[in-house]
Amino acid sequence: AGPSVPVCQAASNKPPRKPAVFIPVDRSPEIQEARLKLPILAEEQIIMEAVSENPIVIICGETGSGKTTQVPQFLYEAGYASSNGAIGITEPRRVAAVSMSQRVAKEMNLSDREVSYQIRYEGNVTDETQIKFMTDGVLLKEIQKDFLLSKYKVVIIDEAHERSMYTDILIGLLSRIVPLREKKGLPLKLIVMSATLRVEDFTDNNRLFSVTPPVIQVDARQFPVTVHFNKKTPLDDYSGECFRKVCKIHRMLPPGGILVFLTGQAEVHSLCRRLRKAFPFQKNNAAGNALPKIDLDNYSVVPVDEGDEDRDTETDDDIAGSDIDLDLGDGDSEEDEKSDSSLPLYVLPLYSLLAPEKQAKVFRAPPPGTRLCVVATNVAETSLTIPGIKYVVDCGKVKKRFYDKITGVSSFRVTWISQASANQRAGRAGRTEPGHCYRLYSSAVFMDFEKFSAPEITKRPVEDLILQMKALNIEKVINFPFPTPPPTEALAAAEELLIALGALKEPPMMGRLTQQLAAKLSCPISPLGRIMATFPVAPRYAKMLALSRQHDCLPYTITIVSAMTVRELFEEFDRPAVSEEETAKLKGKKARLLQMQRIWAGQGPMQMLGDLMVMLGAVGACEYAGCTRKFCEENGLRYKAMLEIRRLRGQLTTAVNSVCTDAGLYIDPKMKPPTEAQATYLRQIVLAGLGDHVARRVQAEELLDDKWKNAYKTALLDDPVFIHPSSVLFKQLPEFVVYQEIVETTKLYMKGVSAVEPEWIPALLPPYCHFGKPLENPPPSYCPETGRIRCHRPSVFYRVSWQLPAVEV
Ligand code: ADP
Ligand code: MG
Repeated sequence: AGPSVPVCQAASNKPPRKPAVFIPVDRSPEIQEARLKLPILAEEQIIMEAVSENPIVIICGETGSGKTTQVPQFLYEAGYASSNGAIGITEPRRVAAVSMSQRVAKEMNLSDREVSYQIRYEGNVTDETQIKFMTDGVLLKEIQKDFLLSKYKVVIIDEAHERSMYTDILIGLLSRIVPLREKKGLPLKLIVMSATLRVEDFTDNNRLFSVTPPVIQVDARQFPVTVHFNKKTPLDDYSGECFRKVCKIHRMLPPGGILVFLTGQAEVHSLCRRLRKAFPFQKNNAAGNALPKIDLDNYSVVPVDEGDEDRDTETDDDIAGSDIDLDLGDGDSEEDEKSDSSLPLYVLPLYSLLAPEKQAKVFRAPPPGTRLCVVATNVAETSLTIPGIKYVVDCGKVKKRFYDKITGVSSFRVTWISQASANQRAGRAGRTEPGHCYRLYSSAVFMDFEKFSAPEITKRPVEDLILQMKALNIEKVINFPFPTPPPTEALAAAEELLIALGALKEPPMMGRLTQQLAAKLSCPISPLGRIMATFPVAPRYAKMLALSRQHDCLPYTITIVSAMTVRELFEEFDRPAVSEEETAKLKGKKARLLQMQRIWAGQGPMQMLGDLMVMLGAVGACEYAGCTRKFCEENGLRYKAMLEIRRLRGQLTTAVNSVCTDAGLYIDPKMKPPTEAQATYLRQIVLAGLGDHVARRVQAEELLDDKWKNAYKTALLDDPVFIHPSSVLFKQLPEFVVYQEIVETTKLYMKGVSAVEPEWIPALLPPYCHFGKPLENPPPSYCPETGRIRCHRPSVFYRVSWQLPAVEV
């Protein structure tokens, strides 16, 4: 079913109108030629007419039709970027913002002073910037400073079909900003660009736009793609199945590039390695193929950790040395993966955090006499288009972040993609000629896929979003024109947390539950909340930063928050080893790491800061040693994590300085250890930020059964949780702790644990410790005899001590 909205037809009878302004662009002949092949060039006139006649325009076009690179250029040429305003384009992914700004600058023969990008605290924007690519989060922050976005004449929201949370909110906000600018006599143009025609969520939403915007459909110029399903039920080993399929295609099918979709960086590297081994380059060179010299570094990409993907332990050494298992035995007798093909396979990895210059290799023609094979993650689905692909191998899976509804704890899981994604992937095969798509799953499985993946906003906790919205003085969030609203429970949970953190003013709690909910969903931001909203981190961490000006704690809190944001500081030595020699080596390394962790944990008050003190100590020690790869390897630290922490510390320092202009913080990588007093303040700061992550050890008299031995009770779960064995507080078992997160493996484990003193809790977390009747009773207090903190509302301490009868203090 097509869209129920007017679609502008390409065949318009109107005489071509001369644009009022025309800013010349000096493009090179090669760029000119490449541009003319893009389908969107044929629609330039229609797009520009629609933009000049309507405040809001939607452009739909297949990936690769030229939306992202060309529409900003059309606007530039028509004078939309002249003198008093720029063209802004938002992308949900940082990599797209950076690489697209570079591409457009190159196409237009302009410098990065004129075509620039901004991602979080990094960018090259200048006074001369006329076209600005940015992440959606950056534009949201700009709206907080200047609601009317007066420095823009046009805002383009790109990749709207991805339905990322911030993109959705921007569309809602801009639906209000555009009429306001109209009223002021300074019209703003909004262009929403999407890869699929499913735009009803934007167009049929009468809360969003008062007049339905026109939708311009860019012809796909798509060649037919034959889809082949696997007959067999899907295998767990989809990576191995990808390998077999690529081998088969390469051996049996005519020339044409292959694009493989896998889920993560580690998988991508491992498949690249297998393929290179099966179809080596050197062998063919030696056999006398006069190949031009190619850059063998293409193959030995130093993996960049994405943070959100599998940790990747691959090094260049094990690329060269490992034995590849070619015995795949999947029962398909005609398959023989041992290559007798004379054609070398030019294998390139592609994932979002691969260095831009390595990413760019996929855009260049492969060396003559080779077949291109790109092994990619989801980035190749819509963000980037690779030329010359004729065969697509689709594993049918994607790695996604999932949030636990109760705890908000997130994890990455591999799941089936949606039908829309599967079709997008297949479409990649038909860009230049008819193609084939091999789906490694059966058609029955495909029919069970959901049609579209659900918008991000419906699937994750929204506290950071709500804080940003409240900072925009949107009090009744529930009335906001969301393209798809988040579930009411998620809104309520977010507001509850923000009230507890002191970021929102508490509403009067009266009447029935529904009224309470309504009152909650309209409470305004507090002065503390305003400060918190300016930090580019989650509200819990923002609260810690906001409190840390006291006692010179800021540099430490910045480091702790950076370290908590970067996952996996330490090397993993518990992995299975291939030889006894390696087992011994790993054991030695692990012992060394444990020893270092004990040193970093310090003594006395420092030690009570627990795992967070270990983080501080590790970063401090590493920086004193110059943050070298050697130091990290010798001491079990992950080098890439340490570099990332350094970068984040710089960003957060900039952010803090921009809020507290008198703080005058400068980043000194070589941070002195905190004093004992500071370590104690830090524990309190952490407690104030992680207020809902408090846990209390179950006391002997409360033991229900053995499974509660050494267990802790938390506010959010009924099950016993434990301190993770890797924690320095694992043996200590303090009575009250705060934790960074809970992970579930064999048990529920708390990670990032610090000990807190019970008497701090009523003082620092009053929202969690109320007296109910009557309300003007003395302040909440801690009773050392019972270990109980009195509280009225069903919250952490009530639940923590639910086995004990209430004791009047
Ligand atoms: P869309 O946004 O519609 O998906 P793009 O504007 O991103 O399309 O891409 C248009 C064309 O430009 C594609 O064919 C792509 O191959 C090409 N292209 C994009 N980026 C680069 C680059 N860095 N180098 C070479 N070609 C590129
Ligand atoms: Mg695009």
